[in-house]
Amino acid sequence: MCGIIGYIGKRNAVPVLLYGLQRLEYRGYDSAGIAVIEKTDKKIIVEKQVGKIKDLQEHLWNKKIEGHIGLGHTRWATHGEPTIENAHPHTSQKGTISIVHNGIIENYLELKKELLDKGYRFKSETDTEVIAHLFEDIYTGDLLDTAFEVAKKLKGAYAIGVISTYEPDRIVGIKKGSPLIIGLGKDENFIASDIPAVLEYTKDFIALDDGEIALVKRDSVEIFTTDGKKVEKNPFHVTWDVSVAEKAGYKHFMQKEIHEQPRTIGDTITGFSSSKTKNMVDTVKNADRLYIIACGTSYHAALVGKFWIEKFAKIPVEVDYASEYRYRDRIIGKNTVVLGISQSGETADTRFALLDAKKEGAKTISLVNVVGSSLSRETDHVLYTYCGPEIGVAATKTFTAQLVSLLLFALELGMKKGTISFRDYEYIHNQLLQIPSKVENILSKDDQIKEIAHRYMSASDFLFLGRNINYPIALEGALKLKEISYIHAEGYPAGEMKHGPIALIDEKMPVVCVAPKDRFYEKIFSNIQEVKARKGKVLSVATEGDSQIKQISDEVIYIPQTIDPLYPILTVIPLQMLSYHIATLLGKDVDQPRNLAKTVTVE
Ligand code: GLU
Repeated sequence: MCGIIGYIGKRNAVPVLLYGLQRLEYRGYDSAGIAVIEKTDKKIIVEKQVGKIKDLQEHLWNKKIEGHIGLGHTRWATHGEPTIENAHPHTSQKGTISIVHNGIIENYLELKKELLDKGYRFKSETDTEVIAHLFEDIYTGDLLDTAFEVAKKLKGAYAIGVISTYEPDRIVGIKKGSPLIIGLGKDENFIASDIPAVLEYTKDFIALDDGEIALVKRDSVEIFTTDGKKVEKNPFHVTWDVSVAEKAGYKHFMQKEIHEQPRTIGDTITGFSSSKTKNMVDTVKNADRLYIIACGTSYHAALVGKFWIEKFAKIPVEVDYASEYRYRDRIIGKNTVVLGISQSGETADTRFALLDAKKEGAKTISLVNVVGSSLSRETDHVLYTYCGPEIGVAATKTFTAQLVSLLLFALELGMKKGTISFRDYEYIHNQLLQIPSKVENILSKDDQIKEIAHRYMSASDFLFLGRNINYPIALEGALKLKEISYIHAEGYPAGEMKHGPIALIDEKMPVVCVAPKDRFYEKIFSNIQEVKARKGKVLSVATEGDSQIKQISDEVIYIPQTIDPLYPILTVIPLQMLSYHIATLLGKDVDQPRNLAKTVTVE
């Protein structure tokens, strides 16, 4: 799930590429590189570095490279370690064609063998290098025609950018499976994996669809299908600007994004409209079953969504990991609906699982944050969260916004089906409108949570417990902690603890208990007693005014009172803050944790 960028135009390409790569670093950051066609001698100069974009920047500091066309890449290795040789761009043997790639070429071994037999030598262990040699091998005298031929030979998922010294006035972009957008400038144009990469220069974009190839020149952009037919596409304009993607005084993007939640929750409530979701609701109301598929944090949102949809709309819901759903024997009838959740709308597992289900006859819905993303274009209906760009790799604001969207959708469905009354709908909606200020209240406890983090930061394991609708929050709390602090953590349904995990509890084990005053309070209270009886350290997330829980907890973080179904939107906030503080106190890079990438566009 690397990030790619390409520039052609009036400026020197080098700073534009480096700027774009910084904005794309959330997609991968084990190595990076650029390829630029030099202004004077028209040769391709390639520079690469292992590490983050700042390492590449330092490496380029004294090098005077000037050219008006180039490509850049930030890598998240799938094939071959993060080394200079494996870093992109990859260049053909004669040094005449350079390419960057995001995705996986599934038939690369077969192609590599053919190319080796023809005498091509490989410098890297990547799947990507075959593309550079294929371009040279097939080159017809026209880069675009060659791209049509190359695309026919590639299997797998890819977004590719190509430049060549043969035709130094053009970039060719190819998309199948991985995201690729075109940025439209004045006397300059761009290709990129994502909008923020070029938002400094333009707000007008074209999103390529799978199977499309773009011919990008300084003053024109043309799009074709892989069989050479020209396609007319409507550009779209984005209204947000670069400052939304800046840290705005916070130390980390993750911290900023946690603190943005009162706004993003509010925006998602106002952004949801009954009229926009009418067709979607009509589709789902007759469904005999709804599948929700997702990965990572979005999967936890799906688990909460199941409680709401079953409670308010009385439709059976099954939640599955997208990577599992894709390869199991799906039972799809004419009334099956599959809803996929992905912040970026590009998550490969979710996209391909949805596309397969769609082919088999399911109606499809996506819940995404990125407007114009692949999923939003590929599904029959789209639900949005209104968060702006999320840069921190660990999802925070998009999780709570996904919850809000799912809740509103469930209520809308319930109203349509008559399974909830208008009075109940209004009551819940009014309570929901109070959530942003309640989140604000929790955020004001930052110092207290930091102190708690200090006391428990040296633990080697954590257990997170919750019941019913707050059980997925225990899972999310554990995921947040492990992904940014690298501390082992497990989430468990509190009632299930006695069937195994209780064996882990001793005086060294912090157990985070999500225990709001809802109708399961007595039950989880007993589970906390069981932890205490085994000398575990209890960190409770409880409702303001609950003094009883203090007696059996080592630490209590209080959250404001709300109605039972809305607690997950509040209980997750202190868990995000706790993970953030533990990880930063341990000196970890919370915005770019090791081995992870924000948008997972590989299977
Ligand atoms: N497969 C390519 C590599 O390992 C690209 C990886 C990706 O897009 O994540 O270099």
